[in-house]
Amino acid sequence: MFRIGTGFDVHAFEPGNKIYLCGVEIPFDRSLAGHSDADVALHALTDAILGASALGDIGLHFPDTDEKWEKADSIIFLNWSLKKAKQRNLKLSNIDLTIICEKPKINSVREQLIANLSKICSLERDKINVKATTTEGLGFTGREEGIASICSVLLYETS
Ligand code: MG
Repeated sequence: MFRIGTGFDVHAFEPGNKIYLCGVEIPFDRSLAGHSDADVALHALTDAILGASALGDIGLHFPDTDEKWEKADSIIFLNWSLKKAKQRNLKLSNIDLTIICEKPKINSVREQLIANLSKICSLERDKINVKATTTEGLGFTGREEGIASICSVLLYETS
C-alpha cells in the first residue's frame, strides 16, 4: 500500500550572508527569515512526510511560538517526522522536491542538496529529485523577496 504526501513552504529574505536548503549551508548575500533556521526545502519535505503519514503539519508539532524551536536545525523536524512515519510502518519510496526562486541558482548546489537528503533520509540518491524553477520575474519569488518550495513524497507500508 502506498501513501502520497505533499508539502509547501515559503520564507522571506532578510539581511544576512547564508541560507539553509536541504540542511546545506549556502553562502548568499541574504538570509531567510524564520523562527527556526528557515530551511524552506526541509520544511516542505517534512510536511509532505507528515501529510503522507496523516500526522498533521510541521506547525502543529513544532509551533513557532515555542522558544524551544528558535533557530532550530530543521533536520530535527525532518528526523522526527521520519521516526513517526516509521512507527506507523511507513518508509520513504521517493522524494520529488522543487525549489522556486530567482536566486540563488540551485544548479550549482543541486548535487550537494541531493547528497544531504540521501544521508538524512537514508534513501538512495536515485530516489531523490531536486528541481529548481523561477516564476519568470512574477510574484514574490520573482521580485526576489523570498524562496518557496513544494515537495511530493511517496511512502510505502512495510508490513
Ligand atoms: Mg517554514
